[in-house]
Amino acid sequence: MRYVIVGASAAGLAAAEAVCSVDPAAEITLLTDEPHPPYCRPLISYVLAGEAPETLYSLPLPSDGRIRIRTGERAVGLDPVEQTVRLASGESLAYDRLLLATGAASKPLGIPGEDAPNVFGFRTRADAEAIDREVAGGARRAAVLGGGLVGVKAAHALARRGLEVTLCIGSGAPLSQVVNPEAGRRVAEALETEGIRVRTGLRPAEIVREDGRATAVGFEGGEALPCDLVVRGKGVEPRGELLGTAGVDARQGIPVDEGLRTPLPNVWAAGDAIRAYDVAWGEPRLNAIWPAAVEQGAAAGRSMAGCDEAYPGSLARNSVKIGPWHLVSAGITRPPEGPFEVREAEDPKGGYRRVVLRDGRLVGFVAWGPDGSAPPSRAGIVIAAIRRGATLAELPFDPLFDRIGWGGFAFPLAPPPFPSIHGR
Ligand SMILES: Cc1cc2nc3c(=O)[nH]c(=O)nc-3n(C[C@H](O)[C@H](O)[C@H](O)COP(=O)(O)OP(=O)(O)OC[C@H]3O[C@@H](n4cnc5c(N)ncnc54)[C@H](O)[C@@H]3O)c2cc1C
Repeated sequence: MRYVIVGASAAGLAAAEAVCSVDPAAEITLLTDEPHPPYCRPLISYVLAGEAPETLYSLPLPSDGRIRIRTGERAVGLDPVEQTVRLASGESLAYDRLLLATGAASKPLGIPGEDAPNVFGFRTRADAEAIDREVAGGARRAAVLGGGLVGVKAAHALARRGLEVTLCIGSGAPLSQVVNPEAGRRVAEALETEGIRVRTGLRPAEIVREDGRATAVGFEGGEALPCDLVVRGKGVEPRGELLGTAGVDARQGIPVDEGLRTPLPNVWAAGDAIRAYDVAWGEPRLNAIWPAAVEQGAAAGRSMAGCDEAYPGSLARNSVKIGPWHLVSAGITRPPEGPFEVREAEDPKGGYRRVVLRDGRLVGFVAWGPDGSAPPSRAGIVIAAIRRGATLAELPFDPLFDRIGWGGFAFPLAPPPFPSIHGR
């Protein structure tokens, strides 16, 4: 059976391994349009910061002779009738089973001037290397536009490199898509303590250029922020364009069923590119996180190879470390109007907790606290509880008041342990 996997990152690699574990006759071709062999994407901010060596990038690649990885190869067209993928080189690859593990891309700003050579996304190793060259070339002031996780990580990395960094946020606080404003306010304070200037309520209107290069960001209302480089940190958008070439609208994320099949026959999808069932929300959502991509890739791989199994669903979860502070969040942290109950607690040392319940069952969790919270990790137990729809009484501790360890989450803002592609 010929398997073609577009995207050789968390989801694609996990899928290839899963296929191999089920189908002894598999012939797998993994394509990536990046020039680098597969690498650990969340590390780009640590490497840029100088907190992790480049050697940590490398992922344990499958040594199985049935798997071939082709770097620098972009798939540009999909013919679901002929079952072929067309490459930018003009080559056509036939498949029996196709997986789209195409991930996501930095959201464009949608303002004039953003094509200047010193305006960067922050998604790839190439992005980090290009920013690194600007820093090495003397850039001193950075404007990071957008206060999502990627914007916060980029700001942190550049501040560590000694730049004067301004994090410009349209909403009232950083991480507004991840946590509630109260937690976001604490994140902003911690970032300021780390030397990052946090400005809220600022919407970029244009990139001001001189000789083609960005020299300032102009904001709605007329304010201008002089800078030597700009990072787009407004979040990501799923890369569903390949499915679009076959007539399926995937601009809001590739739609998949419970077996991670797309609407096209013999085409599956996994990872940041998809809109998969979310166990907390009970509906399809985008959850652009590494462990979800690995879980989905493995599930899609088994499904492609013939196993009849449903993907149980993903769950948003994030972990960030800023200076001595840790933020952990999972599930629904900012519930809409409806049958939700929110409980909050804070302690005199500045710690903050929030649990969100729906019909008495745990669906969301936020914890903010200083170093020294004792292991063993309990955050992982809270995640398991959300997945199971447990009540607070079923937990072996009180997530609002008891000590929570900070393990169980990938990639805090400190040199992380070496991650395996299984996300263990
Ligand atoms: C700075 C940063 C920090 C992060 N930190 C964390 C973290 O702390 N914790 C966490 O869980 N997650 C984190 N993430 C998110 C995590 O990296 C992603 O969730 C994960 O990489 C998704 O894996 P994926 O395989 O779905 O897609 P990707 O890793 O995006 O890989 C998709 C691959 O497919 C390639 N591709 C796309 N289209 C084509 C095409 N047409 N032809 C050929 N190749 C194609 C892309 O170039 C890419 O190489 C972070 C991301 C960034 C950028």
